Amino acid sequence: MAIIGGGPAGIAAALRLKARGMQRVVILEREALLGGALRHETHAAFRWCAPWRIRTGEARARHLAAAALAAGVEVMVGHTVTALRPGGGLEAIVSGGAWRTKARRVLLATGGVADEPRFIETSHLQFDLGTCSPAVDQYGRCSDPAFFAVRKLARMSEFCRQNGTETGDYIADDLSGGLPSLEGKLEVRPGRGIRFVVPQTLAHVVPLRGQLEICAAEPMKGLLRVRAGEVVLYRRWTETWPEKRVVIALDGLKTPPDDAQLIVEIVP
Ligand SMILES: Cc1cc2nc3c(=O)[nH]c(=O)nc-3n(C[C@H](O)[C@H](O)[C@H](O)COP(=O)(O)OP(=O)(O)OC[C@H]3O[C@@H](n4cnc5c(N)ncnc54)[C@H](O)[C@@H]3O)c2cc1C
Repeated sequence: MAIIGGGPAGIAAALRLKARGMQRVVILEREALLGGALRHETHAAFRWCAPWRIRTGEARARHLAAAALAAGVEVMVGHTVTALRPGGGLEAIVSGGAWRTKARRVLLATGGVADEPRFIETSHLQFDLGTCSPAVDQYGRCSDPAFFAVRKLARMSEFCRQNGTETGDYIADDLSGGLPSLEGKLEVRPGRGIRFVVPQTLAHVVPLRGQLEICAAEPMKGLLRVRAGEVVLYRRWTETWPEKRVVIALDGLKTPPDDAQLIVEIVP
């Protein structure tokens, strides 16, 4: 199991995979130390968890890195992944030269939207321009099921860590045959007023479960709805703006037919 990126999300996923019994979990990190963006946050006001537990990001990064090592996660620092290949293949460079390998599963945990490296965008994976990250299903699984990606919507490190843990669980479920197949998946598309929606596909499970997260293109008031063709599956009044995280719970929604396309939109 290879994890690209040793920030809070990648470390959290590695810890969860070790806790679920995976023997070999390797983090590939291009920098010299684990910790990701956290390592550079030295401001005292940094809050990583509950308000009564305040540490600098730097201290939190050290704590996470130590936990990874203690759990037996293999850490390869100074390795930059440069290309992804079908079926879990990846290519990387290190000061001594280039190398390639293949992993049963690869997790992309390379950080914030603005930092998305080009090697993912130019890979064989379906890419979502709205979020600038690979398209995923409700389990974080990419269009090539050997690859998973941590969702990129959260800005605070604690949410990134939680997303990493959750995705680590899904990967462990997948390896033990517990995830539904991608056959008959549903496409989810942003419609009127929506900048992006995550996940971009849904494995077709009956009844539908999980949630969609959306981001509006501009400040808007109106009817937020999800439809399959002309059939409206979900509707509610909303008032939103581009920075606001809006969640649509899928539980209990009528399941649309196989291969349907769901459109999420705000009708003013
Ligand atoms: C200036 C600033 C202030 C912040 N303040 C706060 C705050 O007060 N509180 C808070 O909760 N959050 C804060 N954050 C946000 C927090 O740092 C991030 O939410 C969190 O670090 C994201 O975690 P991540 O694991 O998803 O990504 P990252 O921390 O970005 O980790 C991604 C890792 O992937 C590695 N990587 C990328 N590409 C490759 C590649 N090709 N090969 C190998 N490795 C690769 C990177 O080197 C990096 O280590 C702040 C962020 C910034 C920039």
